[in-house]
Amino acid sequence: MSRQFFVGGNFKMNPNSVAEKKVLTTLLNQAELDSSVEVVVSPPSLYLIPLKEILRPEIKVAAQNCYFKDSGAFTGEISPPQLKDAGIPYVILGHSERRTLFHETSEIVAQKTKAALASGLSVILCIGETLEQRESEQTTAVCSAQLQAAVDILSEGDWSKIVIAYEPVWAIGTGKVATSKQAQDTHADIRAFLTKAVSPAVAAATRIIYGGSVNKGNCVELSKQPDVDGFLVGGASLKPEFVDIINATK
Ligand code: PGA
Repeated sequence: MSRQFFVGGNFKMNPNSVAEKKVLTTLLNQAELDSSVEVVVSPPSLYLIPLKEILRPEIKVAAQNCYFKDSGAFTGEISPPQLKDAGIPYVILGHSERRTLFHETSEIVAQKTKAALASGLSVILCIGETLEQRESEQTTAVCSAQLQAAVDILSEGDWSKIVIAYEPVWAIGTGKVATSKQAQDTHADIRAFLTKAVSPAVAAATRIIYGGSVNKGNCVELSKQPDVDGFLVGGASLKPEFVDIINATK
């Protein structure tokens, strides 16, 4: 089963000006990118439409969050149908910053995932353990529980529109990347979970990407792991080395 390599750039709440975003988009528009890789960049929601309009068409954009209701009195939220209407194809859900800082439970993340899929969006579904959980050998149990909430309310067909991003919390923004073995072992465990919880076909087809301090120095080695199907890149997606990361398998 060949899975298309996927590289996402999660800009988070950066950068602070349209001018800086233009520098990034010019870089991506002019770079020689491996055409076999699916590339998605995720700016703050305010910049989704302008970025989509100036990026070369093969680079997609993703929202960093959405709500699970279609419309109504939910001040500050954006709905899946609104993203769809704006031509936004992807949404990142369940990022550890949203789980931790904004108290999103796995059940809420699952509801958002279901709503996003129902509106025709694709989802980058983030999971991952804290350092304490890794040190007490809870990694597989934590990732499985985070996914189980989605398995409980999704149908088998829904998984074709989901990319799972395994992002150990201790590796996000810390400069402390998982070793290739740690990433491979956890990705293999996640795939084994999908085999049992959903189906062998879904497990074989679903892309599982790694996130957490990916940079141009570590991306090639990580990309060689059989169950690492790409990356979700934070800090380095704001720098020229994002191009090297996109081209990691070239
Ligand atoms: P990082 O962030 O690459 O800066 O560690 C990854 C992420 O949060 O998606």
